[in-house]
Amino acid sequence: MTDFESPARLLAEIREDFTGYLEYIAGLGYPGVALSDNTLRILESWGKRGMAESLDMIRDDLGACRRCKLHTGRKNIVFGFGNPRAKLVFVGEGPGYEEDIQGQPFVGKAGQLLTRILQAIGLTREDVYICNIIKCRPPGNRNPEPDEIAACIPFLRRQLKTIGPRFICALGTFAAQTLLGTNTPISRLRGRFYAYEGIDLLPTYHPAYLLRNPSKKADVWQDMQRLQEAYEKT
Ligand code: SF4
Repeated sequence: MTDFESPARLLAEIREDFTGYLEYIAGLGYPGVALSDNTLRILESWGKRGMAESLDMIRDDLGACRRCKLHTGRKNIVFGFGNPRAKLVFVGEGPGYEEDIQGQPFVGKAGQLLTRILQAIGLTREDVYICNIIKCRPPGNRNPEPDEIAACIPFLRRQLKTIGPRFICALGTFAAQTLLGTNTPISRLRGRFYAYEGIDLLPTYHPAYLLRNPSKKADVWQDMQRLQEAYEKT
C-alpha cells in the first residue's frame, strides 16, 4: 500500500458512509440537503485515484523555487490569485514590476484594466483565477526564454488541473502561443475558442497592449462578449 492509497481509501469509506446515510434518511422521507456544485464536485473526487492536489500543495512544492535563472532577479514569486474552483482562468505572460513587488498577478496598470474588463462582463477578480505562464519577473520584462518556460510551466499545468476550469482566456501573444504551441500571431488567434487539454481556450490581446493600442479595445470587447456568453451557458 502506498502512502497515497491509505487516505484515499479512508475518504472512499467516508463517501460510502455518507451516501448510505443520505439513502437512509431519504427512505424516511427526508428530502435531503442542498449541496453546491463545488461540494458535489469535491465529494465526487474523494477516494479516487489521482485525486487532484490542492493549490496550497502545489505552492508548497514550488517553495523558494530556483528551478530556473529567473529566481536571481525576482523579489517575489507570483503564484496566482482567485477562486480555486474558478470556471474561468486568465493566463498572462509573467509578472511585471508591480507584480514582482506585491507578489500578486495583474496588479499594475494593466491589471487595473483587466479588473475593469472583468467588471464589464459581470465578474470580479475573486470569481476567476488569474496567473501567468511563468511566476518570476524576467529582467527588464523581456520575454521568458525556452528553458525558463520548460522549468515553470509544469506548475501552471498542475494549477489548471486542480482548478479544473471550463474556460481559459490567454492574455496576449506569449500566453496564447505557448499554450497552443503555435507561432501564429495573436491578431489571427484571437476571437475564437481552441481546445486546450479539454478546456475551451480563448486568446485575446493583453491588457498592457491595450494600454498602448486603445483602438484594439473593440476587439477585446467582442472577445469578452463571446466569453461571457459561453460562460453564462455553463
Ligand atoms: S520562473 Fe518558475 S521555474 Fe523559474 S525560478 Fe521562478 S518559479 Fe521557479
